[in-house]
Amino acid sequence: MRRFVAWVSLSIGLLIASTASAWSTKEHIQLTRIAAERLMDDPATPPDMREWLRAALPERLDMEAERQWFMTQRQGIIPRGVDGIAYWCVIPDMNALMDIRGAKIEPFGVAERPLHYIDLELFVTGNQKREYKHDLSGKPKLADIPRDMKDPRWLQAGMLPFRVVDCYEKLVAQIRGGHLNDKPGQYPKDEHACHWAGFLAHYLEDNTQPQHATIDYKNSAYFANKHKAPNVHAQVEYELADDENDDHTELRKEFWPLFVKDLAEVKDPIETNDLWQATCEVSLQSYDALPMIGVAAMAAAGQGGTPEHPEGDISGKFSTEVFYHHKGQYMGREMTVLEMKAYQHAWAEKRVERILRQAWDEAHAPPASK
Ligand SMILES: [Zn+2]
Repeated sequence: MRRFVAWVSLSIGLLIASTASAWSTKEHIQLTRIAAERLMDDPATPPDMREWLRAALPERLDMEAERQWFMTQRQGIIPRGVDGIAYWCVIPDMNALMDIRGAKIEPFGVAERPLHYIDLELFVTGNQKREYKHDLSGKPKLADIPRDMKDPRWLQAGMLPFRVVDCYEKLVAQIRGGHLNDKPGQYPKDEHACHWAGFLAHYLEDNTQPQHATIDYKNSAYFANKHKAPNVHAQVEYELADDENDDHTELRKEFWPLFVKDLAEVKDPIETNDLWQATCEVSLQSYDALPMIGVAAMAAAGQGGTPEHPEGDISGKFSTEVFYHHKGQYMGREMTVLEMKAYQHAWAEKRVERILRQAWDEAHAPPASK
């Protein structure tokens, strides 16, 4: 019996491991690298922060090189060929992958994996079932989400907002202590601002992945046969940017200018500097992209019926092109899934830029002004 239980938990561990990373390794690297590059280019960035980032990002690209890298680079899950902050920003996913037994991380009391998401439905009030609904009625309000880490619902919901704050505080402490990067004679070797800036960037980026805000992280509500439902999570995350079997060259060609345009135009809509609240707000807004993702996935898989009542058999083939070209409503306007993804990527990049700068400023603020 005990052996059976061990086998089951191992299998479940591997099962979740294969689907729980957020944006792909390639996308995390690129978003973090571009954030560091833009901070270095920004004349408003303090000179000593720029100097730190130059050391924290050994390989610096310009935007044309970033475009080429996006178009053709094969990255896979393990971060190869990158170092510094572009390496550390993927390690949270590596820790989740290696953590088959799910060892608890303090002070959270959950394993690594649940630190990457928040299943908002757990916090809805009243007697309704905690589940995803196409009409978004399963979504709570900000005031329904408790800031108390001891609330038992957090054990199931995932603890992304607390982890973001935790990484931020560790980053500020390392900057204050003058431990900016790994250097000879400085111990512990891996405790420095570059490490925690990379970690913070990772969780900030996971925050804008809409499927990291819901219990139904594969959009299975949109499929009659949940077991045969396509892996919509993978489609949203890595299929476009880093598919082993297909470069999706045409889709990538369409995506890149949308992303560059959003980088220039998108303003982070979050007003508060309170990181816990901000993280909840990002998840709450990103959640609104789930209906368009679900309906696009239905179209791409040939699922019949309506979003509320899917019926029939799916074709078995999933068209990534149909999926990304499908139009739906997000942020009060019509857009394709491709445009939605470009926005969420640009938004993630803006958040990383803003919060790294915020940490730097906080670490250098005189105590009296806080
Ligand atoms: Zn992640």
